[in-house]
Amino acid sequence: MTGRDTEFAIIGGGFAGLSAAYELARAGRRVTLLEAEDRIGGLAAAFETEGERLDRFYHHWFTNDRAVMDLIGALGLDGEVEINPSNTGLYFANTIYRLSSPLDLLRFAPLPFADRIRLGLLALRARRVRDWRALEETTAADWLRAMGGERVFRVVWEPLLTGKFGPHAEAISAVWFWNKLKLRGGSRGARGEERLAYFRGGFVALAEALAEAVRGAGGEIRLAAPVERLVPEAGGWRLSGRWGSLTAARAIATPALPLVAEMVRGWAPADYVARLERIHYLANLCLVLELDRPLSETYWLNVNDPSFPFVGVIEHTNFAGAARYGGRHIVYLSKYLPHTDPLYRLGAAEMLDFALPHLARMFPEFDPASVQRHHLWRARWAQPVVERGYSRLIPPEEGPEGLLLCSMAQIYPEDRGTNYAIREGRRLGARLAAETAPEATPA
Ligand SMILES: Cc1cc2nc3c(=O)[nH]c(=O)nc-3n(C[C@H](O)[C@H](O)[C@H](O)COP(=O)(O)OP(=O)(O)OC[C@H]3O[C@@H](n4cnc5c(N)ncnc54)[C@H](O)[C@@H]3O)c2cc1C
Repeated sequence: MTGRDTEFAIIGGGFAGLSAAYELARAGRRVTLLEAEDRIGGLAAAFETEGERLDRFYHHWFTNDRAVMDLIGALGLDGEVEINPSNTGLYFANTIYRLSSPLDLLRFAPLPFADRIRLGLLALRARRVRDWRALEETTAADWLRAMGGERVFRVVWEPLLTGKFGPHAEAISAVWFWNKLKLRGGSRGARGEERLAYFRGGFVALAEALAEAVRGAGGEIRLAAPVERLVPEAGGWRLSGRWGSLTAARAIATPALPLVAEMVRGWAPADYVARLERIHYLANLCLVLELDRPLSETYWLNVNDPSFPFVGVIEHTNFAGAARYGGRHIVYLSKYLPHTDPLYRLGAAEMLDFALPHLARMFPEFDPASVQRHHLWRARWAQPVVERGYSRLIPPEEGPEGLLLCSMAQIYPEDRGTNYAIREGRRLGARLAAETAPEATPA
């Protein structure tokens, strides 16, 4: 018998932490999950407005997101998945172009005809790349230029890279971009039309079902319990914070790596801490607008005009339908930026004032009076910067003293996403349950 409070302590109640907890708890292991916020979900958490819940940050799944569909099946919730048509547009030189199908591509006027063909071929060639390792040392910019030519790069790809990665745009790996092209191209229906998946009640409803399954199998989930220190003790771990402390045989950390660095600083080797701090992250801010009428007919509008200060305009209700939100139309204005950018500090009302004139320029019919409510969400650790040679930057799953990491920045060659958080969380949980013998429960 050991006197430890739990066998497995999991830090973070996003999809990675919840999925690891799910596998351990259903294998009959003692699990305690500690989440800093007063709610679960992490980047996929929701907020309440007018009696409905909305994702803080827009979310969808691709129809080929296997890990998430497997989990939904395991929870018996297949009936809660909706697969809906979606469409993509591109804003360039004050015009919105539809870019959802090969025909749209052929009509894409900002490029001469030969370049439209090159753009189409590029997407097809990207999907044929089998071994991502061949792209590891190439930047996305060089790869895209070589595949589609300079003009296609300047009009289509460069603004997207800059919009998403700002000062890091030139350093981004070709692997990151290849993966994006592959995934989006693969999420289509029988006739080649774009299709995406959503969960009734939002992504948070799946997170809650998962949390319920953890609790149902005997696991514990503690909210408002930020871990400040994670220290090896007596062959196991002590986790502590203003909520108190907890001892565990094994510890799994799922937050952003620099946050984990703070928890282990002092006892962990300096080169390990430096590794946790090495990967850069961009922040994201989302201005969420609730409108009394639609803004457009587009779900996902990529912004390729550098004078428009957001990288995407995502009209959630053009994919998920406005009826479930009492007829309100939900629009996210998304911006990735360094957390040191002054815009990151603006309040919600200031951000709305900042955004409205730009929105009016993009949509001449837009009436500011249609905005019923607005909300602003910020995520400091929103997007790891996937540089060239990224595989060498990723810290190992098992670190000093057996510390386990299952963090978003370790997802590779795919990019972050709930599908991969679920895949990696479940894989790690199942491995630990199979490899380690259960500790006796204290009497
Ligand atoms: C703007 C935006 C759009 C996105 N769109 C999509 C999409 O369409 N589809 C999709 O699948 N994915 C999307 N994602 C990505 C997706 O949200 C993430 O990949 C996924 O939610 C990551 O889950 P995670 O558990 O790895 O990390 P997180 O969700 O970041 O979870 C980490 C958890 O750790 C907690 N934590 C941090 N510090 C501590 C501490 N000291 N103690 C205890 N807990 C702590 C945090 O509060 C958080 O709950 C999007 C992300 C953003 C930012």
